[in-house]
Amino acid sequence: MDRNFEEEIVLSGIPAAPGITFGEAFVVYADEMPISSEPIDPSKVKGEIERFEAALNRTREELADLHRALAAEMGEEHAKILDSHIMMLGDELMKEETLETVRNENVNAAYAFSRIIDRTLKAFDKMEDQYLRERSEDIRDVRKRVIRNYFGQKSEGLADIKRKAIIVAHNLTPSDTVGFKKKFVLGFVSDTGGSTSHAAIIARSLGIPAVVGLGDFSSRVRPFDRLIVDGLSGQVILHPKPETEELYRKARDRFHEMEKELLKIKDYPAVTLDGRTIELSGNIETADEVQEVIDHGARGIGLFRTEYFFITRGTLPGEEEQYRYYQNVIRRMAPDPVLFRTLDVGGDKLAAWVEDNVEANPFMGWRGIRFTLSRKDILRTQLRAMYRAAAHGRARIMFPMVSIVDEVRQALAICAEVREDLKRERYQFGEKVEIGIMIETPSAVAMADTLAREVDFFSIGSNDLIQYALAVDRGNSRISYLYNPLHPAILRLIDDTVRAAHKNNIWVGICGEMVADARVRGALLLIGLGLDEFSANAYLIPEIKKIIRSITYDETRALVKKALKKSTASEVAALLNAFIEDKRPELMEFIPRGPV
Ligand code: PEP
Ligand code: MG
Repeated sequence: MDRNFEEEIVLSGIPAAPGITFGEAFVVYADEMPISSEPIDPSKVKGEIERFEAALNRTREELADLHRALAAEMGEEHAKILDSHIMMLGDELMKEETLETVRNENVNAAYAFSRIIDRTLKAFDKMEDQYLRERSEDIRDVRKRVIRNYFGQKSEGLADIKRKAIIVAHNLTPSDTVGFKKKFVLGFVSDTGGSTSHAAIIARSLGIPAVVGLGDFSSRVRPFDRLIVDGLSGQVILHPKPETEELYRKARDRFHEMEKELLKIKDYPAVTLDGRTIELSGNIETADEVQEVIDHGARGIGLFRTEYFFITRGTLPGEEEQYRYYQNVIRRMAPDPVLFRTLDVGGDKLAAWVEDNVEANPFMGWRGIRFTLSRKDILRTQLRAMYRAAAHGRARIMFPMVSIVDEVRQALAICAEVREDLKRERYQFGEKVEIGIMIETPSAVAMADTLAREVDFFSIGSNDLIQYALAVDRGNSRISYLYNPLHPAILRLIDDTVRAAHKNNIWVGICGEMVADARVRGALLLIGLGLDEFSANAYLIPEIKKIIRSITYDETRALVKKALKKSTASEVAALLNAFIEDKRPELMEFIPRGPV
């Protein structure tokens, strides 16, 4: 099939990391990948049949090779395990049935084949005979091989990517993305996920354009298919026409121009027109990102997601290893502060060394401070390393996922013990480390006045706060329409938190992706809500600075007063749009738009 003549397809997903990129697909196939059941054009039936027959032939050759290799290495007897696979592939009835389904129902062959195999599997599962029941695994394996060949995939895994490409996957985990080799990965798209799922956050940190929540896209793309990914508008174009490429090239150039323009103010202070200064810092997942944060003009790290150091390795890092790692970041940022978050595993961030980490409701489960308080050995080691590293600059420490006051009291007691131990053991350590908590659960907001008396600061984790307050899984694309940072419920929760903090004379920041999601509209509200600090991905820092410098605090307070009285997120958005259009038209360009 000549791919140059394939029809252009435009799909809309959820914009996950900004930027526009062009390239060929590198398709990562999940074991059980979704296969499109959409009808195909009758003119494509012949091509489908040829493609399916070719897939069967390729699978047959592959199995024959495997059979020969097994026989040579382990003897004929062992190679016999492949006999049933080979027999199944030769089953004329199965092949005929597949082809007939394609012809009669105008569906693609992968779908037809899968349906027939599913029926066979159901029949096998009911069999009394254990030997026959176990053959169902062989059938599943044959299906996987045929479908992989149908999509023309060799057996490339994400780890061995060696060509510049756009990653297309059904689902990507945070550890998949953290292992991306930046020089090869031009962009990524996935069927699942939301804008604040951790894979999206990593893409943003790496500066890789990404779109998530694309439904069954990965089953429609073949390796080397040409793609455009627009992480600004959330559009993905498969087999783009030359004129579409041209349009997007212009949009990409405009985007780069704007980025360059914004960088000109990177060394200016983040202060409003009427003189309110806001601390502007960067979020990082790994130490490699420190330079990006500095280059974009942040004054410190406002969220160091230390768990990535733990989840990218098979075993737990010890105190010395962590100490060296943290110390390096502190030294590079000095005299600006580094805010370490203690280990936040759980939810969608799983570490291989955590036993029993499979849960029915992981986001409601064993994560954040719940995990570290039940594994005090891990927490103590991490705190020791952080306090020791703090001797080399300015450090802050905070605890994630707090839902009850007792957790904070326990964590503070452990911090005190750690300091005592270090003193007794004559270690150098930071004596003036501020200790804070993340406000991520509705119960923490409700108890904010009590919590504010226990700690030195709050940092609002809006990604989780939105997910828990609106009861919407942040990684589920099906219900992502509910995930809205402009929802008045969210604004009220932030307002309550800020009031409680200020009443108790502590500072309060935000480190969630609210600005990344709502851009200028989110920033205006957060300024008016009275936040003292913003922490965001490096690429967003110049934009936030520009917004802070273009506005008076008084104007934003007036806006917030009105927004808090609105009933819906769209009413809040309309209020902000009207304000921007009327009073600050130069900020219009930060409202996310498509290429035209
Ligand atoms: C948050 O929940 O807003 C946050 C910053 O933490 P994370 O995204 O790592 O859960
Ligand atoms: Mg969180």
